[in-house]
Amino acid sequence: MFMERKQPFLESLAYPSKKEDYNDEEVMIRYVWEYCTHAMTDFEMQVNFCIHIRAKAEINENPNFAEKILEWKGLLRNAYIEEALKNGPKRFRQRVKDRLLRECPDQIFINRCPSCGRIVRTPKARLCLWCGYAWHHLVHPSEE
Ligand SMILES: [Zn+2]
Repeated sequence: MFMERKQPFLESLAYPSKKEDYNDEEVMIRYVWEYCTHAMTDFEMQVNFCIHIRAKAEINENPNFAEKILEWKGLLRNAYIEEALKNGPKRFRQRVKDRLLRECPDQIFINRCPSCGRIVRTPKARLCLWCGYAWHHLVHPSEE
């Protein structure tokens, strides 16, 4: 007999590894949360901290772990955080990504492949893992 598997808190943030699975919106969310946190507010970072702690608590299988850490940080049963996460971590991260693109595009550099237009792995990457194109011969936008 198998136990019914609970939906993991962070499963919705999975990253595609095959180019057939490329989804610009999903890759953009992940990229922004990895490389553009400098443009995020303290509150957005606090909510993100809660996401990580909750995800860790699931792996830890200790139901009190997340509560203790969040209580210690003063983030437990915070109505603003609960509101921010009411539609799940993915929706929250998507809203923050949208806000950054709308309100501070000058602080964000989305590195896209000059050949296929997909978002590449890091802001400094010059090799596209989606299509294989390399542009080491071109001047990087941050070096102009
Ligand atoms: Zn490419």
